[in-house]
Amino acid sequence: MQTAIGVDLGASHVAAAVVTDDGAIRVQHEEDLEDLRFEAVIAAVEAVVELALKDAGNAMGIGIGSPGNIDAASGAVLYSPNFGWENAPLGDSLRKKFALPVFVANDARCATLGEFTFGSGTGCKDFALLTLGTGIGGGIVGAGNLLLGHRWGAGEIGHHQIRPTDGFICGCGKIGCFEAQASGTGLIRHAFAVAPSFPRSALLDAARDKLSSKKIRKAAQAGDAHALAAWNNFIGDLAIGLANVIAFVNPETIAIGGGVSTAGDFMLDAVRPRADALTTMVPKGTTQIVIATLGNDAGQVGAATMAFRGGLTAVAV
Ligand SMILES: [Zn+2]
Repeated sequence: MQTAIGVDLGASHVAAAVVTDDGAIRVQHEEDLEDLRFEAVIAAVEAVVELALKDAGNAMGIGIGSPGNIDAASGAVLYSPNFGWENAPLGDSLRKKFALPVFVANDARCATLGEFTFGSGTGCKDFALLTLGTGIGGGIVGAGNLLLGHRWGAGEIGHHQIRPTDGFICGCGKIGCFEAQASGTGLIRHAFAVAPSFPRSALLDAARDKLSSKKIRKAAQAGDAHALAAWNNFIGDLAIGLANVIAFVNPETIAIGGGVSTAGDFMLDAVRPRADALTTMVPKGTTQIVIATLGNDAGQVGAATMAFRGGLTAVAV
């Protein structure tokens, strides 16, 4: 059985896993990141990769998922607001250190590749992942290949506008992005937006900053009127984004991951008919919407999958 190292690099920690070629994580090493300067982060990445390589014995390569706009051919981080980096040579730095093939891609694209290869996308060729968390991450697979785009910008599904005139302000500066409306954060905003209609709501008893998407989801499942009103608006916006993805790429499967997706059938039963109602003509009824299965492991499994596949691009590295 072959192994590869899958690295999940985030703004607060880095984790490196030994992943076997059936998509299983064998062992994992993690380190917190405090100093986000490039040299300090590289040192932390090298440390966890080194530990994972010792466990792996003979890994065939190293895959890294990082936030930001990544040149998947060179492995350079062209722009990452999370780290404050521009043109950071992440791939080249690691190639100097380790005598193994190194592949780098955006973290959400890596999660998409992991979910496609070993999770809810197994067996299909056209696939999309939407991870509903603080924002909406994800990616698109077309004919078995992860879509990267002309300048590595494909798959930013979270920043297509669905309510440009009456939506919430997005972190990117636009109004009514899919991410602002239908992420976990979006669900909280919907709860505040409908709050004036529910003056005696128990949801807002605690401090404003204590209201979490989990609390709203659970209250909605328990039948709380305020939470259900917020949930219905959230589901409506989620359905718009799903229908748009179906119109653009008609995937066989769209998987929904992230914290809010733990609602499972409660979410699927509500969103499927509404997404279907917004899907017209040819693609109508041809895309199934499911819950993602790999959870937080998707990023590391997908990063390792890049190494198993020999990268994501046809461009020589
Ligand atoms: Zn946006």
